[in-house]
Amino acid sequence: MDRNEVQARIQQLRDILRENSRKYYVDNAPTMSDQEYDFLMRELEDLEAAYPEFQTPDSPTLKVGSDIDSPFGSNAELRTGGDFVKRAHRYPMLSLGNTYSIAEVEEFAARADKTLEDDFTYCCELKFDGTAICLTYRDGKLVQALTRGDGVQGDDVTENVRHIKNIPQQLHGDFPAEFEIRGEILMPYSSFEALNAEREDIGEPPFANPRNAASGSLKLSDPEEVGRRGLWCTLYHIPAQSVPFHTHDEALRKAASWGLPVSSDRRICKGIEDIRAFIDHWDTARRELPYATDGIVIKINELAAQRALGYTAKSPRWAVAYKFKAEQACTELLSIDYQVGRTGAVTPVANLSPVQLGGTTVKRATLVNEDQIAALDIRVGDSVYVEKGGEIIPKITGVNLALRPSGAVPPSFPERCPDCGTPLVKQEGEAKWFCPNRDGCPTQIKGRILHFLGRRAMNILAGEATVDQFYDAGLVRKPSDLYFINKYQLLSLEGWQDRSAQRFLDSLAQTRQVPFERVLFALGIRFVGESTARDIARHFGSIDAIASAGMEQLLEVAEVGDVIAGSVYDYMHQESNISEINRLKEVGLRFTVDAAKAALSDALSGKTIVISGNFSISRDAMKELIASHGGKCASGVSGSTSFLLSGSKPGPEKLAKCLKLGIPVLSEQEFRELIPSGSQQQDNQQLTLF
Ligand code: NAD
Repeated sequence: MDRNEVQARIQQLRDILRENSRKYYVDNAPTMSDQEYDFLMRELEDLEAAYPEFQTPDSPTLKVGSDIDSPFGSNAELRTGGDFVKRAHRYPMLSLGNTYSIAEVEEFAARADKTLEDDFTYCCELKFDGTAICLTYRDGKLVQALTRGDGVQGDDVTENVRHIKNIPQQLHGDFPAEFEIRGEILMPYSSFEALNAEREDIGEPPFANPRNAASGSLKLSDPEEVGRRGLWCTLYHIPAQSVPFHTHDEALRKAASWGLPVSSDRRICKGIEDIRAFIDHWDTARRELPYATDGIVIKINELAAQRALGYTAKSPRWAVAYKFKAEQACTELLSIDYQVGRTGAVTPVANLSPVQLGGTTVKRATLVNEDQIAALDIRVGDSVYVEKGGEIIPKITGVNLALRPSGAVPPSFPERCPDCGTPLVKQEGEAKWFCPNRDGCPTQIKGRILHFLGRRAMNILAGEATVDQFYDAGLVRKPSDLYFINKYQLLSLEGWQDRSAQRFLDSLAQTRQVPFERVLFALGIRFVGESTARDIARHFGSIDAIASAGMEQLLEVAEVGDVIAGSVYDYMHQESNISEINRLKEVGLRFTVDAAKAALSDALSGKTIVISGNFSISRDAMKELIASHGGKCASGVSGSTSFLLSGSKPGPEKLAKCLKLGIPVLSEQEFRELIPSGSQQQDNQQLTLF
């Protein structure tokens, strides 16, 4: 390469890295593997080292990847979140130098040997694949939790972190008066799978891997929803300045004795042989862990030695991460299926010649959408590389063109629904093709019924096989048909007996007690998950109010943005949906929020209230309290806001806007004076029962 070519390549690499850093940290939706990213970063580092005249201070090689470019991710869920106060870190939160080669770990050890005069050891630990967190404890109490942010300042996610079960609010033992401790917020595989199943259920894109899911969940605006996500924390670093210990290991042992979650999967190593043994052990043993790890961190254990080695602009010189190579396998693409989901979205799925990967046999992998097929330039018969993104979802990352069979032709994406034959459509801004035959496409119909009877929706005793059976017998075409099946019809179906039929009918009868919030979720409106359904139901109080709401009113619901509001609006303006709702009303399902809760008083009737900060009850409970006294909650301050209800630590932006617009700000106590005092005790009881 001549100098001009080098300069152009440097620019190109910086653009690619910046773009992918944003997708990874801000959108939580990476499109390139970590290994690819790290190799491109290494190429840039090498070019900048060889051509220092092209080095610039804003190069990605000198910066810690930032998650605070924007408060919102690109997925619909996160766009309604964010709004975190930024706070400066007392000590910078840096990245780690990384390598995929043992030879480079040896070089790291050799450099330390050469530089350090006194004897030293290494502390080898797992590299947990989550999102970094910095906790501050004062007098044994958790007082602050900051994300890494750009390393200099992070988002204050203290309230969310309080809902992570294994993070203690109060320490015990001989803890220092004040100290910081850093670690990782993880999403265990089990929570990750449950979350993605739920997201797919409501037509939202699944998270690519547990890391992205953890990072996205930590930034939600509803701390209780964060609590429901099953996040986990493991801590691995006390900044040396804040505690009087001699070694890193001693600090971690002490932290564990105060009740903090510290992994015991670490080892003091004397030299490279010990380090190598630790790496070899965990390269396979990590597959048994309930959470994702992506490597081993090798740290100099003695704090005095750490101080002697110091830091670069981006990472400590006293530590290095050895990253495990993403597990990859090469296999043949046998065919491509095009699957229709409940929402009508068509997803291409690759059928592969079975191959072993990460301890499981992989036979199928997602091809995501038509654009991805084109980007991979993939053809049936190709030898393809399969990777486990976040070690869970297999995906095809490339094609070995050298092995392409002659005559292989690019696949053609179907123009018609593979299930019902209806021509597919693609809406503006959507990457997926959809089957528009909502009411006639068997897969969509069955998918909607399955969603309706799901455990988190109406909880009816029936599964996929039963729905197929009902569908094939012509008994159901929509959820309301379930209520018109009688025992005689059930007994005429194969495998049904008196007892099973009665149990099914009993579980159907019980759905008349299911609260409106869950009935609304069961309708399967696109983008309306469990918590959104709850918010919308409580905001409007009844299905009739939702059905007659305009976009503007829908947008007033806390946590509802354009995407969700548009979806609800469209749903409520389809004749077939309204007639289905009417039929479900006739069979006795609940379509209003429980009257006992809804009608405590009308003291707040006509008031639009924005809440901010923390209260003596949870934010959800506060919203419920407002609704039960006739008030409405909105997410943002505007001219139509009646007042801001401010708890402790309200959002400064909301306060500033109130000041500018002259909108009153009420404390919790002032607010409670507005509602009938006799009902308050009752409020709390009802709210906790809910
Ligand atoms: P990193 O994830 O490679 O390593 C640093 C982080 O490791 C620390 O911030 C800490 O959060 C974590 N960590 C886990 N266990 C630890 C332990 N025991 N001790 C100390 N730290 C521990 O670095 P990063 O700066 O967070 O992210 C950069 C990496 O992210 C890149 O190397 C790349 O792999 C990935 N990335 C990928 C893309 C993509 O498009 N796929 C884009 C940007 C970044």
